[in-house]
Amino acid sequence: MSDTLKSNLERAEHYLERFKQQTTGHYINGEFTLGQGGKEYDNYTPTDNSSLGKVMAGSVEDMNAACEAAEAAFESWSNTPGSERKRLLNKFADRLVERADEIALVESMDCGQAIRFMKQAAVRGAANFRFFADKAPEAQNGLALHQEEHTNYTIRKAIGPVGIITPWNTPFMLSTWKIAPALAAGCTVVHKPAELTPLSAYILAEIADEVLPKGVWNMVNGFGEGVGKRMTEHPAIKAVALVGETATGSHIMRQGADTLKRMHFELGGKNPVIVFDDADFERALDAVVFMIYSLNGQRCTSSSRLLIQSGIRDRFIAALEQRVRNLRVGHSLDPETEVGPLVATEHYNKVLSYFDIAKQDGATTAVGGRRISEAQGNINPAGNYLEPTLFTGANNQMRIAQEEIFGPVLTAISFDTEDEAVQIANDTQYGLSGYIWTENTGRAMRMAKQVEAGMLWVNSENNRNLPSPFGGVKMSGIGRDGGDWSFDFYMETKNVCIAHGTHRVPTLGKR
Ligand code: NAD
Repeated sequence: MSDTLKSNLERAEHYLERFKQQTTGHYINGEFTLGQGGKEYDNYTPTDNSSLGKVMAGSVEDMNAACEAAEAAFESWSNTPGSERKRLLNKFADRLVERADEIALVESMDCGQAIRFMKQAAVRGAANFRFFADKAPEAQNGLALHQEEHTNYTIRKAIGPVGIITPWNTPFMLSTWKIAPALAAGCTVVHKPAELTPLSAYILAEIADEVLPKGVWNMVNGFGEGVGKRMTEHPAIKAVALVGETATGSHIMRQGADTLKRMHFELGGKNPVIVFDDADFERALDAVVFMIYSLNGQRCTSSSRLLIQSGIRDRFIAALEQRVRNLRVGHSLDPETEVGPLVATEHYNKVLSYFDIAKQDGATTAVGGRRISEAQGNINPAGNYLEPTLFTGANNQMRIAQEEIFGPVLTAISFDTEDEAVQIANDTQYGLSGYIWTENTGRAMRMAKQVEAGMLWVNSENNRNLPSPFGGVKMSGIGRDGGDWSFDFYMETKNVCIAHGTHRVPTLGKR
């Protein structure tokens, strides 16, 4: 065991001790509480499936209390000057950075993501807070729209208390990405973290407790069908932002129908990376490997379908096979690890099931395709480890090309022409992201226009830009995050029309 891994394990143990010793509860109306009538469950680490402690799955009453607290705090928070919200949210960001080591280690142990990708998590989370904090003072701004005898202007006001439901793949990052703009806009928040990864949400609530007025941030742990469902039905909640699976989006849309909630969904994907013969070979290879095998492939924007043009197919696949074989699977806290264990046994088994499905479909398992069931290096076989996997000889009708596997598993499909690439890329229910590799600018622009996705990257892996819109089309989502798009979701736009005193007001009943 390397010294760094040993030191990471020791520090992680130190940070996790309190979670092991006492049940992790909720944060409601400025109080940490175990709530009323909930049930405890064990939270396991995917590194060896031992328990990281008990967590309280809240009750409907707990969720009601959280929604009522958010409602009570709304008027004061939404009327707090933008400059003050900015100050508080920047303070929040400072505290995230101060607790960066703890956040990275706890998050890695909770969700299995390799520490090399998590060590910047707090800094990136803080960047989310700072970006929206700085925009808080201008969030209300609108447009001036002139007519001959009237002037219209628009103003925005926070929509009300909002519900934020997050998944387990990168729970900390996604929570900050959703919650920061809501608070900057003037909304109060009820957060429902993923049941499989509750720990970083608790740290966020602790920072909220230090920095924000009571009731502005509430957090209830528990399951989707329990507290999650209740949140989406509660009349105090005016909008729900979900990051999760497509099927969950459909459930939530139904659940929120009676109270006419505004919905924002960031859902699943089966994103294509399209590599043309004229692509920069090495850069494309780096990006293809990075965008499916980093973050354990548990990433919504992962490029899980490689569409490779026939002219370079054999050379590219051969180089890719070598890279995938070389990937270092290991304990999440080892700085050398490139692929860690998958988040939980159920998800692990789901990903493993695609190894048989690929065979039944007639694809070739070029690399991997097996669970790791023997101790090797720092891998404990009790954990959810598997070999990074590459399927070749696939076509787009196969289940491995249509379904979101959400693991370090890539399906490679060959194409000949640009038209064929577009047709294959679009032949999916999803439309989150796409990646195009070509040195031909005209082709890149034609492809960017035709590929059905909310986000396209040309000659790049996923590059984050906070002011740019983030979101999907088709079954990958509704709405956009980022920059002013986030404020549009969390705020209502009001139009005020003022007459110049010159127009003729229609006259009725005058004799
Ligand atoms: P999930 O849909 O199972 O769960 C997400 C959250 O929804 C959890 O907190 C869960 O408890 C809650 N939930 C489930 N059912 C609910 C219900 N009926 N009412 C209210 N809440 C409910 O998703 P997951 O398995 O945690 O995460 C993986 C999924 O998230 C993948 O499909 C992935 O593509 C997607 N994802 C999308 C993006 C994006 O930006 N598009 C980003 C990350 C992850």
